[in-house]
Amino acid sequence: MTDVCRVTPVLQVAETLEALRSFRQSVAGQTIAFVPTMGALHEGHCSLIRKARELADRVVVSIYVNPLQFGPEEDLSRYPRSLEADLAACEALGADLAFTPTDAVIYPEGRDAITHVVPPAELTEQLCGLSRPGHFEGVATVVLKLFHMVEPDIAVFGEKDAQQLAVIRRMVRDLNLPMSIVGHPTVREADGLALSSRNKYFQTAEQRQAALILSQTLFEAQARFALADRPLVRPLLDECLAAVLARPEFRHPAVQALFRLGYLEARQSETFLPVETLTVGTRILMAAYVGNVRLIDNILLPGD
Ligand code: AMP
Repeated sequence: MTDVCRVTPVLQVAETLEALRSFRQSVAGQTIAFVPTMGALHEGHCSLIRKARELADRVVVSIYVNPLQFGPEEDLSRYPRSLEADLAACEALGADLAFTPTDAVIYPEGRDAITHVVPPAELTEQLCGLSRPGHFEGVATVVLKLFHMVEPDIAVFGEKDAQQLAVIRRMVRDLNLPMSIVGHPTVREADGLALSSRNKYFQTAEQRQAALILSQTLFEAQARFALADRPLVRPLLDECLAAVLARPEFRHPAVQALFRLGYLEARQSETFLPVETLTVGTRILMAAYVGNVRLIDNILLPGD
């Protein structure tokens, strides 16, 4: 395998393990903050890279669409890819290395018969794990491999994928990995829509509008929580969704026809255990299809 390492004034790009190792050796003794991504970078990813820049001497960003975490019916083949723009963003943000491996670098033996990381069922057999069997195993497996390849001191993940963040934190603790995990808040559009690479799939104004139902429902729950004393989860969340769907901007049949709820649930933010009443530190999580685009969002109920 050839050692492809393109050197720009600041950003290096490594496609192979050899190139990654030679970068790693060149920065021995310095601290490394790592931001794993699947590319199609947006401002949410950028905020993680900026955070990483604050936390360590060197910043490594990986750009790899991991087939192991996609189900057979999911969007692996059409997942958005924009490598050149992603590298330009990494460079502009002061990242030191972009690791852009191929499948052959990550899964040289193929991906059918390899060792898997199996996170505990109490974390995965709920929420996104129910509709995406094997997803978190695929995430944990590739993230552990990337951690061993990059050997970071710190890795930065978005709270946007809160269940993923909980799985990774648990893996690092359970497997005694010598590194720390930093969670970073969700970046949103001005109207509240959480940034996501999958927002690129929206083709109509109605889809974009229907996507807002997620964040608006979470904000509604936050507002009602502030006015109530330890409200019961189920009635409150159901009322919030009904109230949002009844708003004039969402009542249009073309918008409502696009929206299909996956889940709207509350969990204790650290343990991800179900809760019956909403309290400070509860995380409310939501998944929905907008047309054929699956979106997730969540919010942490704040203290005073
Ligand atoms: P992805 O490329 O979707 O695998 O995401 C890579 C990282 O970016 C993950 O840690 C995500 O949680 C994080 N991320 C994605 N969207 C956002 C967002 N809107 N705000 C903050 N972080 C995000």
